[in-house]
Amino acid sequence: MTSTQSVHDGAATEGIWAAPGRVNLIGEHTDYNDGFVLPVALPHSARATVRLRPDGVLRLYSEQGDGEAVELVVADLAPGSVDGWAKYPAAVVWTLRAAGYDVGGADVHIDSDVPTGAGLSSSAALECAVAVAYNDLHGLGLTGPELARLAQRAENEFVGVPCGVMDQMASACCTEGGALFLDTRDFSQRHVPLDLAGAGLRLLVIDTRVKHDLADGAYAELRAGCERAAALLGLAALRDLPAAGLDAALDRLPAELRPLVRHVVTEDERVLEAVARLDAGDLAGLGPILTAGHASLRDDYRVSCPETDLAVEAAVAAGALGARMTGGGFGGSVVALVADTALDAVAEAVTAAFTAAGYAAPRTFTAVPAAGARRIS
Ligand code: ADP
Ligand code: MG
Repeated sequence: MTSTQSVHDGAATEGIWAAPGRVNLIGEHTDYNDGFVLPVALPHSARATVRLRPDGVLRLYSEQGDGEAVELVVADLAPGSVDGWAKYPAAVVWTLRAAGYDVGGADVHIDSDVPTGAGLSSSAALECAVAVAYNDLHGLGLTGPELARLAQRAENEFVGVPCGVMDQMASACCTEGGALFLDTRDFSQRHVPLDLAGAGLRLLVIDTRVKHDLADGAYAELRAGCERAAALLGLAALRDLPAAGLDAALDRLPAELRPLVRHVVTEDERVLEAVARLDAGDLAGLGPILTAGHASLRDDYRVSCPETDLAVEAAVAAGALGARMTGGGFGGSVVALVADTALDAVAEAVTAAFTAAGYAAPRTFTAVPAAGARRIS
């Protein structure tokens, strides 16, 4: 699709951009503690067909929306001024302008196959698809990490969700065939090859299809708890607490903060251990780290739920090398590392366990690490 009418010095003003959802392998609730994460991009993505408009109007339509187009005046955008799904793309345009970029209106058509609200980051996919489109169409020259930080700011300040930076970094910066090892303190990052097929392994994603109401309020509370603990320990962030000093530090904290700190500190260690094993070519060695991470989220951070616990248990009992909930928690998805030969048995065992428990059937799919946000047409 090419544009004949241009508002930018003869440059094409139209195209299609895609940005993926993600599944985080390990490093959960560490990204707002300046810690480490290890996500992979999903083959599922949000696609934005974008044509710039010269009249300052932002016209938004989503195939997954309510069937109505939303028209906004870019100059009038302000946090709190937009309701519903349209606030995610509007947030990106507002944030670009707040950061000093002279961008205006556009027609934006969204179509996404990232399951929404499933802990697979459909929101960051949507934000990053719009961000990368504006970056290209306006020739802004922003890098992937810069776009990710703008998209995070959009979600924090305009949408009003106090998320860390992992989702946007994964969507903007992941590369095909590997995981993104990201230090959320300084945004340094490295592509860690993940040749699952070569090792006879698969990543099985199990979308439990449940999202418990607790999710939004609890996230902000947990984040505040971590910040309070860091302040009590005299640290800039929990990332600064070495594992060797954990026990002594816990003694100095009120009882209710101890499990939070234990999760964050041990989770950072698990990310480093996972990267070391992958670097050493020991892909199967990731399995026990996933399962240990789930236990920590279940028992210490307390963000799992009966459905994700059951999916993990059933997957491991049926032969998965390891499994854990992924994403913020209170429902959403589980990621399992499974040998090729056990894939069907594990998926069937999880579905059978859900049926036996009276839960609706989960959606299962395998994920091959895909590329980050990019122009596709
Ligand atoms: P997650 O990012 O884990 O999927 P969130 O609650 O952060 O869950 O974001 C989900 C929200 O993002 C949806 O409720 C919707 O408002 C918005 N969203 C994501 N994808 C789309 C889409 N294709 N069309 C419209 N809205 C979308
Ligand atoms: Mg999200």
